[in-house]
Amino acid sequence: MTDEALRELGERARQCTACRLAETRTNVVFGDGSPEARVMFVGEGPGRNEDLQGIPFVGAAGQLLNRLLGEIDMRRDDVYIANVVKCRPPGNRDPRPDEIASCKGFLADQIRLIDPDVVVTLGNFATKLLLKQEMGITRLRGHAYPWWNRTIVPTFHPAAALRGGQSVLDKMREDFSLVESVLSDTADIEESEAPEPEQMGLF
Ligand code: URA
Repeated sequence: MTDEALRELGERARQCTACRLAETRTNVVFGDGSPEARVMFVGEGPGRNEDLQGIPFVGAAGQLLNRLLGEIDMRRDDVYIANVVKCRPPGNRDPRPDEIASCKGFLADQIRLIDPDVVVTLGNFATKLLLKQEMGITRLRGHAYPWWNRTIVPTFHPAAALRGGQSVLDKMREDFSLVESVLSDTADIEESEAPEPEQMGLF
């Protein structure tokens, strides 16, 4: 059921021409991973490799993400990975507010369908969109935030760790450990009916 609904949503995304990014994309990068994932990662937007392959986080940042997942005994297949915008901004520029606004319904639907316990926002764009927060990632990370019957754990974007070196990487490791402990804390709690992000006008 989730599989089918996700496939249909992905098909709609692949045909989307709602913003200018549709004109320059090679592929729509909808999302990747398990529809039953308890953890969902949200990045910023596809880069060059992702645009060429149609899969999120396949470049250097993706390798680092895979490594950090491995350190908490998870594999990519265990999680679901998506982005704020599904098409590559040319030259890897920041996604613009109108592009984010046109695309955010897809992310809301992905969250509703996958229904993860934990959403890990990677970097400022995803964190600001979901937490509706102007505060930067450096201040927000290191904590778990209750969010519509789920938990958001904000952390740095892996590309920031590639640029920023060991201290950023160490903080990402702390945040991934936090994900692990939130997951074990919520494992035994009976699932309650989570409101649907889009219906709640959440972001
Ligand atoms: N950076 C992102 O934010 N998303 C990707 O899919 C790849 C790199």
